[in-house]
Amino acid sequence: MPKALIVGTGLGGLTTALRLASRGYDVEMVEMFRQAGGRLNQLKKDGFTWDMAPSFFSMSYEFKEFIDFCGIDMPFEFVELDPLYAVNFRGSNRNYQIYKDLHKLGQEFSELEPGFEEKARRFLKDTGRLFHDTENRVIRRNFDGLIDYLVSLAGVPWGHAPKMFRSVWSEMSRYFDSREVKEILSLVSFFLGATPFDTPAVYTLLSYTELVHDGYHNVRGGMYKIVEGLISELNKKGISIRYNTEIKGFEAQNGRLTGFTDAAGIVHNADVFVVNADAAVFRHQVFNRKKWSEERLDRFHWTMAPLTIYLGLDQQVDSLYHHHYFLGNNFKDYAAKIFKNRISLDQPYYYVNTLSRFNPESAPAGCETVFILCPVPHRLFKPDWSDRDQIVDNIIADLSARVGVDLKKRIISKTVMDPIDWEKSFHLHRGSGLGLAHDLNQIGHFRPKNVDEQFKNVFYVGSSTVPGTGLPMAVISSKLATERILQQYGPVH
Ligand SMILES: Cc1cc2nc3c(=O)[nH]c(=O)nc-3n(C[C@H](O)[C@H](O)[C@H](O)COP(=O)(O)OP(=O)(O)OC[C@H]3O[C@@H](n4cnc5c(N)ncnc54)[C@H](O)[C@@H]3O)c2cc1C
Repeated sequence: MPKALIVGTGLGGLTTALRLASRGYDVEMVEMFRQAGGRLNQLKKDGFTWDMAPSFFSMSYEFKEFIDFCGIDMPFEFVELDPLYAVNFRGSNRNYQIYKDLHKLGQEFSELEPGFEEKARRFLKDTGRLFHDTENRVIRRNFDGLIDYLVSLAGVPWGHAPKMFRSVWSEMSRYFDSREVKEILSLVSFFLGATPFDTPAVYTLLSYTELVHDGYHNVRGGMYKIVEGLISELNKKGISIRYNTEIKGFEAQNGRLTGFTDAAGIVHNADVFVVNADAAVFRHQVFNRKKWSEERLDRFHWTMAPLTIYLGLDQQVDSLYHHHYFLGNNFKDYAAKIFKNRISLDQPYYYVNTLSRFNPESAPAGCETVFILCPVPHRLFKPDWSDRDQIVDNIIADLSARVGVDLKKRIISKTVMDPIDWEKSFHLHRGSGLGLAHDLNQIGHFRPKNVDEQFKNVFYVGSSTVPGTGLPMAVISSKLATERILQQYGPVH
């Protein structure tokens, strides 16, 4: 029975562990953090429980594909979001509710964009075609070299080609006139850790996944139930995880890796190794490859970093919605400058998730569990975070004014994670929250590969390898890495 060692317990690592175990592999896992989940983590403090980062996801059917592959029941419960989220613009009391039902959404936007429903149907028909033309051809498969990738791309109908050269923003402008509507619909670019002005229009297919296809889901009891559910399945299979165990070095023989060495000098041997740590960073930090030197890593395009704030409030705030975006009035200027730290963070754009709204057990009775995520420049552009308390105070003051409650007076628990904390906790390059960006020269064949260049028994899974970032992509990534492994070693039963 081949033994597989998995480095990292992010969603990609956990799902690969279960896939391999279901095919008879003897699996072990190591993790440098104190608990499992990677970015899909949890913070518990002062009687409150927060999801540390992801708060919803699309393409829930990827989890269904995963449990079918493993032959297990869904170990957590999805909740479909309706409305998907709310959006507020600075200076206005109005909170737009973003419904999946286009008729209802048209009514919500009736003053902003007359004829929205019809325009949206045309837009979504177009992006839907793109989604279905690329899903299995480009997103859900491995590529064996550039030619294989190009042949696959050539099979995508040429009518979509102009979307490679336009931005999400200019594509939106072909269908909609209202600034606010375009800003709201292009928020999907931020889910890729970039802005609608530098994200290729091919990613408007995310609008289709959001508004038509599968919508957004979260999980009853909070997102960390995903991790708890997966851990309980791993326990049933006797798979152990060693926490606080950082892999620092390796041993190899005859072109094959024989073991990874942790910070305490212990060698972890196996036949197959799966790296769930960032696929580019690990090649630099542990394999010390020239092609992946720090300078070269910096030349890649990395997604924005998170500044995250976890508040426990001693009262509920009815004017906060479950998923709530707070935007300003200088979207284009802000988006163009924020990435490179060329605009002040005095009045930032941010997202708020109120977990206790539908999961009261996450807060003491009558209290509120609030998570604030502010996308900020990663550390190549803003290395110093000594001003973080000022930025956090600005955000809390801004949010207070917009929800009509002086939150500062209501805080009984507060934790902040800045890009330095994110970088240290999970080895995220320069604190980049979503890993490598999705520019056309950083996806598919051009993304760090899921098989190692040197050691043929080392595989990668997670956000910075194929296909990309986000929870459903991590699950697809585990499917692709498992396919590679089974091709070489076969299923045991
Ligand atoms: C603030 C924020 C909000 C997000 N919101 C959403 C959302 O709402 N919806 C969504 O779909 N996605 C969201 N994402 C993205 C999503 O969290 C990630 O794409 C996904 O969780 C990444 O999973 P992964 O498999 O790449 O592993 P990771 O989560 O990166 O886990 C990798 C693991 O490897 C460990 N590791 C690294 N190096 C070593 C080493 N040398 N030795 C041992 N262990 C090591 C790390 O500690 C970590 O636990 C968000 C991300 C962030 C940061």
